[in-house]
Amino acid sequence: MPQNGEIELRVAEALQQDVGKGIVRVDKELLGKIDIVPGNLVEIMGKRSTGAIVGEAYPADVGLEIIRMDGLTRSNAGTSISEMVTIRKTELKEATKVILAPATKGIRIMAPGEILKKNLMGRSVSKGDVLALISPRKTRETFREFPDVESVFSGFFEASTPFSLGEIKFTVVSTSPTGIVRITDVTEIEIRPEAVELIEKKIPDVTYDDVGGLKPEISKLREMVELPLRHPEIFDRLGIDPPKGVLLHGSPGTGKTLIAKALANESDANFMAINGPEIMSKFVGEAEKRIRDFFKQAEDEAPSIIFIDEIDAIAPRREEVTGEVERRVVAQILSLMDGLKERGKVIVVGATNRPDALDPALRRPGRFDREIGLRVPDKDGRCEILQIHTRGMPLADDVELNEFSSITHGFVGADLAALCREAAMNALRRILPDIDLEEQTIPKEVLEKLFVTKNDFMDALKF
Ligand code: ADP
Repeated sequence: MPQNGEIELRVAEALQQDVGKGIVRVDKELLGKIDIVPGNLVEIMGKRSTGAIVGEAYPADVGLEIIRMDGLTRSNAGTSISEMVTIRKTELKEATKVILAPATKGIRIMAPGEILKKNLMGRSVSKGDVLALISPRKTRETFREFPDVESVFSGFFEASTPFSLGEIKFTVVSTSPTGIVRITDVTEIEIRPEAVELIEKKIPDVTYDDVGGLKPEISKLREMVELPLRHPEIFDRLGIDPPKGVLLHGSPGTGKTLIAKALANESDANFMAINGPEIMSKFVGEAEKRIRDFFKQAEDEAPSIIFIDEIDAIAPRREEVTGEVERRVVAQILSLMDGLKERGKVIVVGATNRPDALDPALRRPGRFDREIGLRVPDKDGRCEILQIHTRGMPLADDVELNEFSSITHGFVGADLAALCREAAMNALRRILPDIDLEEQTIPKEVLEKLFVTKNDFMDALKF
């Protein structure tokens, strides 16, 4: 139960423009009840606790008892969409020192701590949090919205330091003092070059924030899969069967794999992926054994999502040429699905570009009996996807993502991701002659020249 000075709110997803900023949004009136004003630092308590700057709700949310936050904040607070969290005001404690390490193995950080600091100014952190570094442009947006916060950091605007070309996530290894602290001018940032094991929780590599232009599809999928995985009791009580299989269809590169991964992460389920063509290239007998082992592991470690990519390669329509192996594998998948003991604990998500090419036996009730089509994104969808893939990039001021979403008709998510990557590579090529790859860190002056410009995008479009 919330105590005095606390309120309980339902968690909702962040809008794309807020992702990565460490901001949550709540109706101002509700905040007023516990003496909080926009710009204050709040503690968010789910299964864990974390800090964030609270901003005003968007007009459409006024009057709703919700708190919007991005996927990393949800993970830091140990909560997920639709769950309840409690918030309260927290006093501003300046960090004297924060130690960070890359959250992903295999990444080496070559930038000095002082450079990273500029991208983290104003952020509130606590031990065990995972942060994504955002571009200086986004940090500036935060300060524009909360001028009070900015006044804490005199001189911040003098430099706008670019950072990386992609989004890099960091784990907060420790802070002094402990608790929820804010990174300010006085904070010393130490970077451990390599990932540190934090056994406390798993770090989501993909969340719903990373999926653009598919809001209605995400909500449908959440209802079909996340709800039964998290709350099988609801289905029991209603006396309806949660689905065993969901079929995702859409052109290649529309985000089928991505959305399935996000779903697994957000519902705290294991994600196990089988690739159709790959499994079919195995020897007779081996494919069947692999699939059997998969299902067994999925049940043992439930809740789990088994993702079968290009399922049409395994289960083509019978009138298409089918061999003995295909027939056996299809029969086996069906019987394994029929045999899943606890409904709702293991859900099989199949993906295909050609739903019509599938063996109809797979789509009967009790099998892949729910379907979601992923669209080719429209202009707004493309803009969201571009925002996602430029999140960590130092964009030059002449880059208007809106312009690029207008001229990329027909591009799917994978094409837009490739466009951003190529633009970033163009920017990198410009500074490459100045980098000595043998060195441990890249000089600040070189990094400060690294901007991805409109021209870099235009050149990338030529391919
Ligand atoms: P599919 O499984 O439909 O072929 P993927 O999920 O493998 O497509 O997409 C490949 C990559 O393209 C993703 O990892 C992601 O970087 C990008 N991508 C695709 N769709 C989207 C989307 N809707 N939003 C953001 N990125 C996307």
